[in-house]
Amino acid sequence: MRLFDPHIHMTSRTTDDYEAMRDAGVRALVEPAFWLGQPRTNVGSFVDYFDSLLGWERFRAAQFGIAHHCALALNPKEANDPRCAEVLDVLPRYLAKDGVVAVGEVGYDSMTPEEDEVFAAQLAMAVEYELPALVHTPHRDKARGTERSLAVVAESGLDPGRVVIDHLNEVTVPLVRDSGCWLGFSIYPDTKMSPPRMVELLRTYGTERMLVNSAADWGRSDPLLTRATADAMLAAGFTEDDVDRVLWRNPVEFYGQSGRLDLDGEPAQATYEGNSILRGGS
Ligand SMILES: [Zn+2]
Repeated sequence: MRLFDPHIHMTSRTTDDYEAMRDAGVRALVEPAFWLGQPRTNVGSFVDYFDSLLGWERFRAAQFGIAHHCALALNPKEANDPRCAEVLDVLPRYLAKDGVVAVGEVGYDSMTPEEDEVFAAQLAMAVEYELPALVHTPHRDKARGTERSLAVVAESGLDPGRVVIDHLNEVTVPLVRDSGCWLGFSIYPDTKMSPPRMVELLRTYGTERMLVNSAADWGRSDPLLTRATADAMLAAGFTEDDVDRVLWRNPVEFYGQSGRLDLDGEPAQATYEGNSILRGGS
């Protein structure tokens, strides 16, 4: 079984997680940029973070035979902080880099005017850089946030086939389905979406344009829930081909639109410029 986690925050996970993911069948992933758990105070904090996603995290993943890609953006929460506004000025040079396969996570947190502006500006960058976009839907007031996100996407001129609306549930699926956007589902250990509920959604709506992720981060989460969903699908009578479609071919098709997916790169890069610093013990 080959698995592709289309949304996971590896910067907050350990090498044990990488090893367990590899053993479970995860061969590729996309790590979207998000907040740090505490407010960043300046643009430099983002620059270092973006560089670590493009360099160090990619190297770490390669050591376990996992192809690492990222999505970069100013996240919805920090779109409200004027100290972070400059991120929009540095973002274009990052969106031109290999390894960046989408703009994301963008979208709404509290649905403020500042978030509106930053969301629209970053969708315009997705159009300009011909990248797909990963749209986070808010955890509070999800239905209204999803409707409003779809309206902003429609206004942006970005092809809906290049947009995934993420963190969906039973209530928001029908809204997104008719839009032509891809449908993203984050499977969590004990809240929101679970493997059995995901299987029901696949039974109801089919496997087309469906993306399943673990969204694992620092919170209570589980990077093996993509595998658990695959197992639940098989137990419910889905075929191995169905599993391969949802958990491999769909994310490959979606992020492949960037033209930058690299799924058969070298296993472990022999060197990494930052590595000697960490190994040197200084
Ligand atoms: Zn996320």
